[in-house]
Amino acid sequence: MPTVWVLGAGQLGAMLKQAAYPLALNVEPVEPDSEHLPNIAADDIVTVEREQWPDTPVTRHLSSQAGFINADIFGRIADRFHQKSMLDDLAISTAPWRVVNTDSTAQEMHAELGAHVLLKRREGGYDGKGQHWLHKDDGGAIPADWLGTGIAEQKIPFDEELSLVGARDKDGNKVFYPLTLNLHVNGILMASISPLSRVAHLQSQAEAMLGKIMDSTGYVGVMAMECFRVGDALMVNELAPRVHNSGHWTQAGACVSQFEMHLRAVSGLPLKAPDVRGQSVMINVIGVERNIGWLKIPATQCYWYGKDVRPGRKLGHINLNHPQKSVVQTALSELHTLLPQNYDQVFAWVKQELE
Ligand code: ATP
Ligand code: MG
Ligand code: MG
Repeated sequence: MPTVWVLGAGQLGAMLKQAAYPLALNVEPVEPDSEHLPNIAADDIVTVEREQWPDTPVTRHLSSQAGFINADIFGRIADRFHQKSMLDDLAISTAPWRVVNTDSTAQEMHAELGAHVLLKRREGGYDGKGQHWLHKDDGGAIPADWLGTGIAEQKIPFDEELSLVGARDKDGNKVFYPLTLNLHVNGILMASISPLSRVAHLQSQAEAMLGKIMDSTGYVGVMAMECFRVGDALMVNELAPRVHNSGHWTQAGACVSQFEMHLRAVSGLPLKAPDVRGQSVMINVIGVERNIGWLKIPATQCYWYGKDVRPGRKLGHINLNHPQKSVVQTALSELHTLLPQNYDQVFAWVKQELE
């Protein structure tokens, strides 16, 4: 079996490695700043667990391999200008946008996009970092360091945020997980719920959109599509050409997790439509010290990423899954008592959805 090298060695790389064991695949996450160049064989595969990477000897070495999957796609998706242009070219609905040029003005942006405009860095933003709001009533100008480095988006008064995780193999076969409902607070994902019967009627719309994106780019592997729901219409917020935080629930709630699905796709193993088991909820552990009490709660799976605790940092996640929703509800109530007060809104949101 060839080795699957993963560009990036964070939690996503670690969870890909975990998922590789039953497939007897050797997965090797690689730190971009590593001093050692990995010894890559001609038939090895290279995939990524991050959207952007620094230019280092290791990243240059990995990305120049013949087995680097999706080589020409990452640059197009990692730069919001190219990603939004691609969505427009494919006639896939997305928030109206403009490029922030070196001579752009806030007045122009408000005239074209409305009273509330969100500036996003073309490259490198994540967890809502790399964003800046322009509100017409505040009369603020575009900050100098945004000129020539960003795009501007119209504020979408969305009803809620949904994501679709899907996978495509090199022959064009595609599989999708059910839509996932996501709660973001201050731009960072806090919780996900799937499946959810009240959004099931949007599944085919979402699959058609992500299917078109994956087919048109010839993409191989797992891709996530973050959407805004506005009534019965979906709008793409952004794409992630990799395994995604909103798909972590599949570790507990699907017969093939997103991590295993990605490995199957990139290494030419068969994809399988994922049977989904019971009700899943995923709660992200953000800026909170780990608590071994979480391990005692029934119907939960805990993942700690082994990172230093810092406010606002993603440190782990907890999957709750059970065939009976009531068991998940009870587990949520127990978990709630073991997380800080800023999680009150998260639990209120989840509990209301599961009622
Ligand atoms: P991620 O960690 O998901 O990669 P990111 O930093 O790349 O996040 P986005 O996903 O583009 O940023 O935006 C973060 C959040 O900000 C969205 O999930 C949504 O809640 C809000 N948001 C983004 N774009 C808009 C918009 N056009 N109108 C209203 N809210 C928006
Ligand atoms: Mg993003
Ligand atoms: Mg996002």
